[in-house]
Amino acid sequence: MKDCLFCKIIAGEIPGNKVFENDKVFAFRDINPQAPVHGLIVPKKHMDNILQCDAETAAALTEAVGEVARLEGVDESGFRVISNCGRDGAQSVNHLHVHLLGGVQLTEKMN
Ligand code: 5GP
Ligand code: ZN
Repeated sequence: MKDCLFCKIIAGEIPGNKVFENDKVFAFRDINPQAPVHGLIVPKKHMDNILQCDAETAAALTEAVGEVARLEGVDESGFRVISNCGRDGAQSVNHLHVHLLGGVQLTEKMN
């Protein structure tokens, strides 16, 4: 989609710190990490947020979460997965993405 930051990263028009890629999903490191491991996992097909996510995309994202966790070395220690949606969810980039946070003991507080 034109003027979408994450579509441009997927297309290689803007550099992204890629961690993993397959035919459906692209994963890269967050530019402003909020934990020692902070990955972003996004579908290659543009969709605004989780409200537009179909079952096939959800499955691909979920599989990619596991891949990224293994590649980033947090599969055994654990991690948190978050997808912000809309205004109250504080979504700032309107291309569906899943945050994977780990590499530190996270608190129980989630907001
Ligand atoms: P949101 O707030 O929409 O859930 O998450 C968007 C995330 O994208 C933020 O954590 C932000 O740091 C990250 N981000 C914004 N611009 C860029 C960029 O150009 N490159 C990368 N790698 N991450 C970005
Ligand atoms: Zn997009």
